[in-house]
Amino acid sequence: MSNWRDNVKKVVPYIPGEQPQISNIVKLNTNENPYPPSPKVEEILDSFDDKNLRKYPDPNSKHLVDALAEAYAVAPEKIFVGVGSDDVLGMAFQTFFRSNKKVLFPNITYSFYDVWCELYDIPYETQALREDFSINREDYVKGNGGIVIANPNAPTSLAMDVSDIEYIIKNNPGSVVIVDEAYIDFGGETALPLIDKYDNVLVVRTFSKSRSLAGLRIGFAFGQKELIDYLNAVKNSYNSYTMNMLSIECGMASLSDDAYFKTVVKKIIDTREKYAEVLKGMGFTMPKSSSNFLFAKHESVDANVLFEELKKKNIFVRHWNKPIIKDYLRITVGTDDEMAKLVKALEEIIPQCN
Ligand code: PMP
Repeated sequence: MSNWRDNVKKVVPYIPGEQPQISNIVKLNTNENPYPPSPKVEEILDSFDDKNLRKYPDPNSKHLVDALAEAYAVAPEKIFVGVGSDDVLGMAFQTFFRSNKKVLFPNITYSFYDVWCELYDIPYETQALREDFSINREDYVKGNGGIVIANPNAPTSLAMDVSDIEYIIKNNPGSVVIVDEAYIDFGGETALPLIDKYDNVLVVRTFSKSRSLAGLRIGFAFGQKELIDYLNAVKNSYNSYTMNMLSIECGMASLSDDAYFKTVVKKIIDTREKYAEVLKGMGFTMPKSSSNFLFAKHESVDANVLFEELKKKNIFVRHWNKPIIKDYLRITVGTDDEMAKLVKALEEIIPQCN
């Protein structure tokens, strides 16, 4: 007799950082922005007419795409939007990685990439980072079915020169190169201008980090019209209404407030630089961060011990019990006040562990 369990898609899912449902915690574990979104978003939420919710949203999210086009000086037909960059990336894996050759990405990178490969039956091969966590562009010049590079990379926080990204794109005319720029607003150089030069590059962005809108789920991608058309065809074969009305309107409101966006990004960069130095003074080492998080290793105390002890004090950071990175903590840059609390807690924990 046949057993339906034999015909089930079995996957090991991506594990996101904890979202503890308790108050009074210092939450530095999921690279969220510690500041609220632009007040213009609040205005939209206050004035939104809930009677509109009876209608479906615009399946093409035209107003949001047009606002992105204006904000980034890119033609609307070169822009795709999705439910967070996870949705955009998942859609892109499904659309562009259809050969039976291996898709390449670093061995230490965003841990959703291998999950999508498993989900969509895409063969893949990870490429080892150098000891200093940098990406060797030569590892990406060989037969492949596609390439994904997070720049800045996560969880290492390190940015790659855009000239090295261009080298990879140029040397792979036969495959699509996805550049995941979730953290680019905090440092590093964008590959966005390369979309006019090459037909095989997709640059993916998000409102979740620099625009403080992780809860609304808005992601987008830039690429030549042909790439965007392929993405939209797959999206429209799956779910016409990916973007809800509130996401479309609040996304537009956020884009209209460039001054607020720049102020928040600058505050986070300033806090990052300040606390990178403070942590170094406490015995931590870390790669130079171009993101909104620090990837820090202590000279004597085990990262897992620090992780657990911080948690006891209601301070959440991220730790992976994985080879190569098990000695590191990924610490999202919070407000100055949150970072001061982290430092105070570490000052109590570290001497007890030595
Ligand atoms: N790419 C990278 C490198 C990330 O760290 C994240 C955040 N988990 C994402 C993409 C997805 O972010 P979102 O779906 O919130 O846009």
